[in-house]
Amino acid sequence: MEKEKINLLIVDDEEQFLNSISRSLELRDFKVIAVNRGEKAIEAAKNNPIDIALVDLKMPGISGEETLKLLKQEHKWMEVVILTGHGAIDSAVECTKNGAYSYLQKPCELDILLKALQDAYKKKVMNKKQIEEKKMNELLSISISNSPRQILRKLREMDKGD
Ligand SMILES: [Mg+2]
Repeated sequence: MEKEKINLLIVDDEEQFLNSISRSLELRDFKVIAVNRGEKAIEAAKNNPIDIALVDLKMPGISGEETLKLLKQEHKWMEVVILTGHGAIDSAVECTKNGAYSYLQKPCELDILLKALQDAYKKKVMNKKQIEEKKMNELLSISISNSPRQILRKLREMDKGD
C-alpha cells in the first residue's frame, strides 16, 4: 500500500492548521511530511522524495515565495500549490507566474484541496512523461471510475512505471 501513496510536503507556520490538514490527507493516500518553516521545507525536500508541496505564503524566516523559488529550482518535477490567508491573494497570483501550479485561500475545504492536489500531481506526471492533457485524460478514463482515490492511484502507477 505504501508505494501507492503520493509524497506531499506541507509547510505552514500555523501548527494547528498544519496538524489537522496533515491528518486529513494522511487518511487519503498521501504520505505527508509537515514542517513549519520554509528552511525546513527546503531541507526535507533534499532528503525525501516529494511529488507535491503545499506552501503557506506568510511565514517567519524565508517566505512562501522564496520557498517556492528554491523548491522549483532544485526539484524539476515537483509541483507547488500555494496556500494563502485573507488579503494576500495578489501575491498568490504572482506565485503562479513564478511556477506555482495553483493557489488556494485558507480556510480551504478538503474537497477543494484534494482536487488541487490531484491536479497538481497530474501535472507532475504529465511533465515527467511529456504527456499532453488530452492524452492524460484518455489514459485516466480507461478502466477506472472517477473516484478521486482511484485517479490518484492510477496517476501513481503511471508515475512509477517507465
Ligand atoms: Mg502563515
